[in-house]
Amino acid sequence: MSFKSKKIWLDGEMVRWEEAKVHVLTHALHYGTGYFEGIRCYALEDGHSAVFRLDEHMRRFFDSGQILGFPLPYTVEQIKLATLDIIRVNGLKECYIRPLAFVGSGEMGLYAPDNPIHVAIAAWPWGAYLGEEGIKNGIRAKVSSYTRHHVNVMMTKSKVSGNYINSVLAKNEVKKAGYDEAIMLDTEGYVAEASGENIFIIRQQRVKTTPLTSILPGITRDSVLTIARDKEYEVQEERFTRDELYTADEAFFTGTAAEVTPIREVDNRKIGPGCPGPVTLKLQQTFFNAIKGKDKKYKKWLTYI
Ligand SMILES: *Cc1c(COP(=O)(O)O)cnc(C)c1O
Repeated sequence: MSFKSKKIWLDGEMVRWEEAKVHVLTHALHYGTGYFEGIRCYALEDGHSAVFRLDEHMRRFFDSGQILGFPLPYTVEQIKLATLDIIRVNGLKECYIRPLAFVGSGEMGLYAPDNPIHVAIAAWPWGAYLGEEGIKNGIRAKVSSYTRHHVNVMMTKSKVSGNYINSVLAKNEVKKAGYDEAIMLDTEGYVAEASGENIFIIRQQRVKTTPLTSILPGITRDSVLTIARDKEYEVQEERFTRDELYTADEAFFTGTAAEVTPIREVDNRKIGPGCPGPVTLKLQQTFFNAIKGKDKKYKKWLTYI
């Protein structure tokens, strides 16, 4: 394994990384009955570290439990403190944090209302998900042959584990074809999102992103929308088509893992001149300033360790 830290929070206790194990008959392992979050903690200029938008991630974690029908057996405050503890205990200055709740073993049938809900929180150092080079110069994306979830097939507003088979299929498909990331269309053929990121396009200074209907409500998406509105760009949350994406002046992905990653090519077509455009760079720079605590306006998004 390329990453590792010392401890993992598991069901209320700090256990050694190597010992955070589950039984093979864990319900979630068979049926995907789990849900998770992806959070980042950044090292700030002043030597402190801060978690980015912790309250919003906590809200979504609990929302996922509510949607799946297996609520967390803890309070928000308990999970929040455990999240901060796992960073401290591992002595991490900058890291990715992965809370996971999952249905444990017991009943093996699909209906298992009495199986225990386990909760784990891990943290480890994790650099740019789509690469440093991608953040700087943009990545190459491809529209996947796999359609994004219909709103009544999967619950798109939750980070439910089972939902990610769709993402894995799409990601593997395009990676094996030589691209960096998969873009998926919704069941009506409009652009939805990427395998683990939301998508933005810019045309004539207008910033557009998919509405929340069939996508994961990204916290990075929300941060970038807030920044764009603060910078007085015209912002639209509206569906758009694949050809509108091809003819955009600029495009980028947002996500906790991917942060703000420019898209330089879609389906072998250059987006704009084929390098990150001015609006993307401005929003990206402001986002990086915000996560690093360099912009007073967005300090409210930081929870200090
Ligand atoms: C997590 C995720 C995102 C990005 O959400 P953030 O809150 O910005 O990390 C977008 N799409 C999908 C499918 C995701 O799983």
